[in-house]
Amino acid sequence: MVSCEPLNRILDGKQISKEQAYEIFEFSKHNSDAIYKTANTLRNLHKKNTITFSKKAFFNLVNLCRDVCGYCTYKAEPGEQKASMMSKKNVQELSALAKKYHCTEALFVTGERPEEKYPEAKAWLKENGFSSTAEYLVYASEIALDQGLFPHTNAGNLTKSEMNDLKKTNVSMGLMLENSSERMSEQKMPHYLAPSKTPKTRLQVLSNAGELKIPMTTGVLVGIGETPHEIIDSLFAIKDLHDRFGHIQEIILQNFQPKQDTWMKNMPSAEENYFKTMVALARIIMPQMNIQIPPNLSPNSYQYFLDAGINDWGGISPLTQDYVNPEFGWPQIEFVDEHTKNAGFELKARFPIYPEIMNMTSPYLRDKMTPIMDKAGYVLEEYWR
Ligand code: SF4
Repeated sequence: MVSCEPLNRILDGKQISKEQAYEIFEFSKHNSDAIYKTANTLRNLHKKNTITFSKKAFFNLVNLCRDVCGYCTYKAEPGEQKASMMSKKNVQELSALAKKYHCTEALFVTGERPEEKYPEAKAWLKENGFSSTAEYLVYASEIALDQGLFPHTNAGNLTKSEMNDLKKTNVSMGLMLENSSERMSEQKMPHYLAPSKTPKTRLQVLSNAGELKIPMTTGVLVGIGETPHEIIDSLFAIKDLHDRFGHIQEIILQNFQPKQDTWMKNMPSAEENYFKTMVALARIIMPQMNIQIPPNLSPNSYQYFLDAGINDWGGISPLTQDYVNPEFGWPQIEFVDEHTKNAGFELKARFPIYPEIMNMTSPYLRDKMTPIMDKAGYVLEEYWR
């Protein structure tokens, strides 16, 4: 068999450079099995046979957004049927219901600073006693935490001071890098009308989170018109941040799926083999990282992506839909459990913070998790099943 020197380096426990990752990508065009095997070996070495997920409720807090991304169906205009501005009462009720279902994660999602574009959002926040979406997030996170859930906020580019406020109640936070290439913001590209997605801004927010010691989830969106090297560059940009601060807890690889009400509706979905190669490269570039793909975007490919070295299925909700990908329902947890088991792995529920980064969060939040945490830092099996 033809060998690839950088792959051997990785298996010897050494790091690879960006150029070597490009070389692996070229090699994979003719020897894809070798890179999947390497990714598998690395996952088994660092994660054993554990595959995780987070049992969550999705709080679609405010889905108006000042930006426009070419692929986004989450964002709504005021008055549209799908527009959501969750009242305090709704937050309270969903928190109570999620607790009843033994969810552990309260995923709070909003558009990017809706109050800066829409007078309706500004007025609604004011009526409810808040001057910004971030202030409402602080309040909503307190409600969820009081009910026994653990907040994880994904609200776009928050300021350092807003993140510092949310850190008191959020065990981790999320911000997708999407891609580190400035080209994605050029005319006719997906982020042309989304200034919040400029890589420099996103990387600065992720770096601020590192300085604040906030465990962060980030990731890349695959198949939006990027080149393979631009995905590799993005993975290295994330690696650099993690090397500096040690705060990246997981990387999500999300495969682009065209949505009917977006201007990218006629673009093809991310090609499955290309996506799988990028997933395997993520594992190869960061062997110890938690690598996640959402199970609902590739519903028939559980074994296929386990073979590419992932170790996490992300958040799965037994009671709320995926508002970012509404056409793809969450699978039943039992279904994911069965497929994971059939592939030779054990499914465990994690908190919205991974065990290995647990000491980054406050003792106050750790104490709240302790009664339902097992010795390894996962959610007690008898609690989530
Ligand atoms: S992906 Fe996020 S920033 Fe872009 S339009 Fe949708 S809600 Fe706004």
